[in-house]
Amino acid sequence: MTGSGTRTDVPTDVPSGDASDRCPYCGRPLRSEHLLALHVGEAHPGHTDREAAAYAEAREAEDEELFVYHMKVIGAIVLLFFAVSYTYVFVLV
Ligand SMILES: [Zn+2]
Repeated sequence: MTGSGTRTDVPTDVPSGDASDRCPYCGRPLRSEHLLALHVGEAHPGHTDREAAAYAEAREAEDEELFVYHMKVIGAIVLLFFAVSYTYVFVLV
């Protein structure tokens, strides 16, 4: 990945009074500690051991969420395939 650092230059707007986590390096507001750990791990190389551990944990959690999402998409595709096949074989033929 090319880490030019321009991804952190995106203008952001946080409503006043909204409790959000801010990046200690660039001040970017992020919605959760999970997103903060991912941002620090990917946008600011050379982080501390604590931040590296938080990044690894957040990355693993994100991988698990992505795996579950993929399983749901595959299940929906298989269900759609059998629904179309059933309709074609038993209703239209
Ligand atoms: Zn940052």
